[in-house]
Amino acid sequence: MIKCLLLSTALFCALAGNAQISDSLAFKTISDQVLTRGKCYEDLKVLCKTVGNRISGSPQAAKAVEWGEKTMRETGCDKVWLQPVMVPVWKRGEEHLALKFSATGDYEDVPMTSLGNSEGTGGRLLKGDIVMIKSFEEFERMDKASVEGKIVFFNYRFRQDFPNSFPGYGDAVKYRWQSPIIAGKKNPAAIIIRSISTGDDDYPHTGSTRYEENGPKFPIVAIGNKTADKLEMACLNGGTMAAMKTNCKMDGTALSYNVIGEITGSTKPNDYIIVGGHLDSWDIGEGAHDDGAGCVQSMEVLRTMKKLSIRPKRTIRAVLFMNEENGLKGGTAYADSALARKEKHILALESDAGGFSPRGIETTMSKKQREKFKKYAPLFLPYGVYNFDEEGGGADVSPLKKQGVVIGELLPDSQRYFDVHHTDNDVFETVNHRELKLGAAAMTMFIYLVDKNDLLD
Ligand SMILES: [Zn+2]
Repeated sequence: MIKCLLLSTALFCALAGNAQISDSLAFKTISDQVLTRGKCYEDLKVLCKTVGNRISGSPQAAKAVEWGEKTMRETGCDKVWLQPVMVPVWKRGEEHLALKFSATGDYEDVPMTSLGNSEGTGGRLLKGDIVMIKSFEEFERMDKASVEGKIVFFNYRFRQDFPNSFPGYGDAVKYRWQSPIIAGKKNPAAIIIRSISTGDDDYPHTGSTRYEENGPKFPIVAIGNKTADKLEMACLNGGTMAAMKTNCKMDGTALSYNVIGEITGSTKPNDYIIVGGHLDSWDIGEGAHDDGAGCVQSMEVLRTMKKLSIRPKRTIRAVLFMNEENGLKGGTAYADSALARKEKHILALESDAGGFSPRGIETTMSKKQREKFKKYAPLFLPYGVYNFDEEGGGADVSPLKKQGVVIGELLPDSQRYFDVHHTDNDVFETVNHRELKLGAAAMTMFIYLVDKNDLLD
């Protein structure tokens, strides 16, 4: 009996060892395919250079949907379709900001961007004294009279002490996302924020903001770090003023689409694994890292499986979500449809943190699932991918979480993302073809491994 047990244990270990060897060979094959014959970089170039930026509800977003459908078909996957989704429409229009850095100086035009969903000045010139405030805590302590009718400058710096830039983003982004709600209580004329940026430069960064429902609405704009540094010094001496003219506004809703492609599963076709990125971008730059990269990487996963004749047990879908940036309507519509159709999703992976070298994948795996997965984690080391400990997942796949789906997100190297994120500088030229492809390879490996070894069952 004991002998028999020992023998079967040895046999099991040998088999398990072989499984790891075959997985590591599969990883190398996947890596070779993506690095030498992958098309995601070329796909990204077409998206960035022929479509360009593509905010939800715009003609460019409609063009991006056409591009997505065509490119998805070219992966050779089994099925491609469009999923309708109503999206909010926000229009920017012309915009200007001039600052007076001293009581006696002249106004100087500075680089600026309105925040997404912001109200404009309606094309009128809005002028006012600037009140510099470093934090919400400081703002709360101020009396209403010292803020009312003034232009509030939230001068909160992106913390540079986190080795990974995402916690710094998480810390600072509230000054973009919540300023109108916090400051609205004291009726400012407008808000200027220091951009949520790691960049040692003067690129202003846009991104979503929001107002208190039925609360006051006023313009909110961002300036780059260099201008913010100069304004900070000037504010210490007093006499600073701003003059802004913006035309942005919300403009109803429009019909748009998520683009979906799938490889039908061989033995468990009614179990779904999805991989995705978001097709919309802000209306400046080219949306290369955010999130053209995630879209082309997700399609590369399907292409790689087809090219290598990998037949997954489960159905693998690539989803190009619409409207992540200012509404999350695509992610919500996908999750609603999955629920209505009773589709059993076991994993939803997103890439929306830039097309940089992959370092890991964060997930919401249970402790037990994570322990099971961790035995396979060393297979990723030759590809520089080691971090599977973080808890989290992408925004577009987050609505699936409450259906009990394990969600996840690719974790690329984070050092450069918040230099270009939501700026004119998020262009194709800032994406490296090897880094982008390695990310696509890591996503393919992860999905291959989870599916083949039933890691989330
Ligand atoms: Zn994004």
